[in-house]
Amino acid sequence: MRAAVFSTKNYDRQFLEPAAAAAGHQLTFFEPRLMPQTAVLAAGFPAVCSFVNDVLSADVVAELARGGTRYVALRCAGYNQVDLAACARHGLRVARVPAYSPHAVAEHTVGLMLALNRKYHKAYNRVREGNFSIDGLLGFDMHGKTAGVIGTGKIGTEVARILAGFGCRVLLYDVAENPACRALGTYVPLDTLYAESDMITLHCPLTRATHHVIDQAAIARMKPGVMLINTSRGALLDTPAAIDGLKSGHIRYLGLDVYEEEAELFFEDRSDEVIQDDVFMRLATFPNVLITSHQAFFTETALREIARTTMANLTAFERGEPLETELGAAAG
Ligand code: NAD
Repeated sequence: MRAAVFSTKNYDRQFLEPAAAAAGHQLTFFEPRLMPQTAVLAAGFPAVCSFVNDVLSADVVAELARGGTRYVALRCAGYNQVDLAACARHGLRVARVPAYSPHAVAEHTVGLMLALNRKYHKAYNRVREGNFSIDGLLGFDMHGKTAGVIGTGKIGTEVARILAGFGCRVLLYDVAENPACRALGTYVPLDTLYAESDMITLHCPLTRATHHVIDQAAIARMKPGVMLINTSRGALLDTPAAIDGLKSGHIRYLGLDVYEEEAELFFEDRSDEVIQDDVFMRLATFPNVLITSHQAFFTETALREIARTTMANLTAFERGEPLETELGAAAG
């Protein structure tokens, strides 16, 4: 099947090209993000392949349908960026990659915790500059601390497993308990998790119910000095509320791999630009905030698996087969 691939980087091509050749699909790579201004590029392609910050809003979906596109293969797990009702109206089938490597995201999550706690990023720069002082690098033992995991699906479970291995007391919260996670910690009400956790990490999807789930009120219920980590979706966190929490000291550490307005920033080299997002720039000034540019998924294992599943989705579309990875209009 011919597919228009949006938001292409070299690393995408490196993994998608061999997978497409093996599966007999023809990919055309476009660097721009999919959005209203670029949707016309997909005209004549039966399928599009999009990533996390590609926009599949109602107007984009209508444009894709006008151009003859019938299939959308998301090369990511999250699908909050897709108007599934619009896809259903226009008869577009949408599939995603529900699990490519929960380990990749879980390991990056714990990496952020360790880096914030032990200040590796500062130590690295100091030693390079011949500054061997350890003053200011004081951390804490994670062993014996309480870690709260919100969202105990595939990634949350792996995070809980690693933290349990560190000797943390793990508190879990989810709207639906996961039996695979029960042995790793204790399910508690959200308020208990907020009140007792020294570290809180978010692994629930972005939905209407979870939009800004961490707001001023939620932060106020957390333990003073809490470490907060978000590697899930930016809009789970009300960023100005987090900035207030950092300024007051209520949040002692903040680790982010995602940001609500990341689509305008992440995945590009903007080091020569004047960044216009004042909220992001304020965040970046805190010494106790560590931000990565949506790279938690970014391992060889994950990219290989994303390419494999995406090609399998295109093959099933082509053959008119049902798909476990398909999203219905009711999802989300
Ligand atoms: P999953 O579907 O396996 O698990 C999500 C869990 O969240 C489920 O157990 C679900 O019941 C729970 N949940 C739903 N609503 C909730 C709520 N209101 N409160 C608490 N829990 C709730 O998904 P996953 O594979 O573990 O991925 C989790 C999220 O991680 C994805 O939605 C995606 O946004 C994000 N993600 C980020 C990256 C990255 O590179 N940073 C990569 C992959 C996924």
